[in-house]
Amino acid sequence: MAAKLPFGDTAAFEAAKRGLIAPVPDGMIRTANGTVLWNLGEYAFIDGELVPATVNPSLWRMARLNLANGLFKVTDRLYQLRGFDISNMTVIEGDTGLILIDPLVTAEVARAALAHYYTHRPHKPVVAVIYTHSHIDHYGGVRGVIDEDDVKAGKVAVIAPDGFMEAVSGENVLAGLPMARRAQFQFGTMLPRGPRGQVDAGLGKGIARGTSGLIAPSLSIVQPVEEHVIDGIRIIFQLAPETEAPAEMHMFYPELGVLNMAENACPLLHNFIPLRGAVARDPRIWAKYIGDAIALYGNDTEVLIGQHHWPTWGREAVLDHLEAQRDLYKHIHDQTLRYMNKGWRPTEIAEAIDLPPGLAERWSVRGYYGSVNHNVKAVYQRYLSWYDGNPCNLHPLPQAKAAAKLVEYMGGAAAVIARAKADFAKGEYRWVAQVMKEVVYADPANIEARTVCADALEQMGYQAESATWRNAFLYGAQELRHGVFPLPSRIAVSADTLAGLTSDVFFDMLAIRLDAVKAAGQSMVVNWHFTDRDETLVLTLKHSTLTHRLGEWSSSAVASVTTTRRTLDEIVLGRTTAPHALASGALKVEGDASRPAALLAMLDPPSGLMFNVLTPSGA
Ligand SMILES: [Zn+2]
Repeated sequence: MAAKLPFGDTAAFEAAKRGLIAPVPDGMIRTANGTVLWNLGEYAFIDGELVPATVNPSLWRMARLNLANGLFKVTDRLYQLRGFDISNMTVIEGDTGLILIDPLVTAEVARAALAHYYTHRPHKPVVAVIYTHSHIDHYGGVRGVIDEDDVKAGKVAVIAPDGFMEAVSGENVLAGLPMARRAQFQFGTMLPRGPRGQVDAGLGKGIARGTSGLIAPSLSIVQPVEEHVIDGIRIIFQLAPETEAPAEMHMFYPELGVLNMAENACPLLHNFIPLRGAVARDPRIWAKYIGDAIALYGNDTEVLIGQHHWPTWGREAVLDHLEAQRDLYKHIHDQTLRYMNKGWRPTEIAEAIDLPPGLAERWSVRGYYGSVNHNVKAVYQRYLSWYDGNPCNLHPLPQAKAAAKLVEYMGGAAAVIARAKADFAKGEYRWVAQVMKEVVYADPANIEARTVCADALEQMGYQAESATWRNAFLYGAQELRHGVFPLPSRIAVSADTLAGLTSDVFFDMLAIRLDAVKAAGQSMVVNWHFTDRDETLVLTLKHSTLTHRLGEWSSSAVASVTTTRRTLDEIVLGRTTAPHALASGALKVEGDASRPAALLAMLDPPSGLMFNVLTPSGA
């Protein structure tokens, strides 16, 4: 890697430093009682060009770049707070107040970032918050910078792309728990920081701790291109749905000559499906929207910014960067389909495709967050699903059973381990991890197998250019050596997210917790009336399945419940219980009250976060 890539090109280091006013004070953010929520000091070991043997040199370079932090002046009236979290908060100085774009992940760090801005710039009130897209690192800290009452009173606007609230609940609620667990692997959450541990997360250093929330938008951008003047600043919004997020938008500020591509043109290869899991994204549309942005704003753009990383300065450099990004996504999409049309399968295609000449030697398209390899598989999944078409793969034994047979066929664990060690010595780490997985799945208590597997994963982590791959490999090794860290289970959905859910999604969230065995053979219809939302809903249990009809009322219901959605939210959050709500009058039942109670008893308790990943489920 060191020989292949243009380490003499240091332009990005200049770009990352340009306009710095003041770094993050002490590189650290704490709560009032001293709890550390963010600490760049953990990365003090990333102190120069000398690359440790345990870090890919290309990733080391990105890990250095992502350490640039503080308040930066981009151009007159436009500033960025970088390195206070994984994402950037952009500040535009309007005529009377501030427009904040993407208030980081947690309220505490967003508040600290804004305070840092105020230390160096005039103290003006926040008049608008813009969410560029529906990922939590772009809205979660909103309560640290504005008050919801001011939004309700019309003093502060909250602006988001069309479909924002639906996307927030779609991506993060129904499958939120496994995503959170898998995200630990992606970000290396509990890995030690260091040359043998987490060095970066690709998009930034990592995710800040603290409290995330959500304030619903007061203005949605719905037209493909929509212009507004906000506090004297002309903003042209360009919707880019189904790209990096289901609801996302770019912005052009004509008077400032600044194009904000949100997260669609970061200086790296992004994900078509992140390792945490997501619905497959559409790289074809993604490339098209970048092309549209070039056509609409390219000639008038002097500076390109994003909501991660540093800006690109100068019209030619901006166009050059955007064209490379556009072609990057289109290339991987097109070439994957080219091979799919020859009948190739995901792992075969992923092995065959790499960045083409002209792109491969550019820093700004390398896979620090996504990778060509897993993006190819995402394209395949998007078009042809998980099934590779070979019927031998249509009905395999589940992993643990298959592993036991396989290890037996191969002559037992000891024989497999002996051969794996020989292959490890030859550097065949991919294969060693692959085959040791079988031995570990056949017998999770086999310490030697776990150790050899961990050794192989570690080497793969040290070699990986992608920060997310490195984190995943090293996290896997850590869990094989030390077991799963016993984190206390926590509520997967925040109160704000819950309050933002439509009752449609809310009842789907309950439905996915139905224990089908407990519900077997039972059926009932229950009416619900939510007085705070003026909503009625009919909930039906039949065939061990819950379905609902919003806006309806059944005359054959066994019971009718009158309450508020807020009360139901509190029950789901564990802040109250159904019997308590019944006793206090917050929840009233007409008809047979024992039936809705029995229904609630059929729901699984909230699942624990720390499920097994490296060993069979439930083992
Ligand atoms: Zn982001």
